Amino acid sequence: MKYHVKILRESIKPNPGYGLPIVMYGRSHTTHHDDGSVTINRSVIPLREIGNPGPVVDHQKWLYDYEVTEVTCEGCGASFPWTELKDTTDYDYDGNAIGWEDVCPKCGEPECCDVEFEDITTALARTNPVR
Ligand SMILES: [Zn+2]
Repeated sequence: MKYHVKILRESIKPNPGYGLPIVMYGRSHTTHHDDGSVTINRSVIPLREIGNPGPVVDHQKWLYDYEVTEVTCEGCGASFPWTELKDTTDYDYDGNAIGWEDVCPKCGEPECCDVEFEDITTALARTNPVR
């Protein structure tokens, strides 16, 4: 089953760092707020660690939060908000990192459900019927 997670339209705001050089870049992680909304943040990983030699500019034009919706693990059948999905890292014998995404918080199944996040372009085009 595929889950679509929508952007909270009222949370969309311009990114003040858009177009400016950034020295850190990496995977995203989530921040939980008291009102139940969630912000996806880029984690801070020095560029040299991901082997990117070129200058990097912040391409994220907008900042926004995603709705919190329930997903169901295809492995164990447990239901939980998608924000509880984990990303984990294993290491092989040579010490190379192997990343797992969408790991079930209950049974540990990697990629336990198919979550698709709404594109910001789609969210901006979506009409807001409220008010
Ligand atoms: Zn599970």
